[in-house]
Amino acid sequence: MYSNQYIKIDQNACMGCGGCITACPHDALEFDAEGKSSIKLANVCDGEHECVVFCPIGALTQNKDYKQKVETIEETEKIEQIVNC
Ligand code: SF4
Repeated sequence: MYSNQYIKIDQNACMGCGGCITACPHDALEFDAEGKSSIKLANVCDGEHECVVFCPIGALTQNKDYKQKVETIEETEKIEQIVNC
């Protein structure tokens, strides 16, 4: 299992199609020695999660804590917009 603060990659599930590597706008992913997706540049990944959306078999998942943090921020922003109207 490869992971950073944003995503997790399950190598056992990965079929090596390379779609997530192509989908990443930051070129943060690469194939490992076994032809499975892995995180090449954890520091350039910003959690946009195009890779997670692209993966046809769900081998990539968003980090649960990060996802909850984003949802909380988005919810807070919505509330602030309503209050400030
Ligand atoms: S899109 Fe999914 S199956 Fe394809 S290389 Fe990436 S993690 Fe593996």
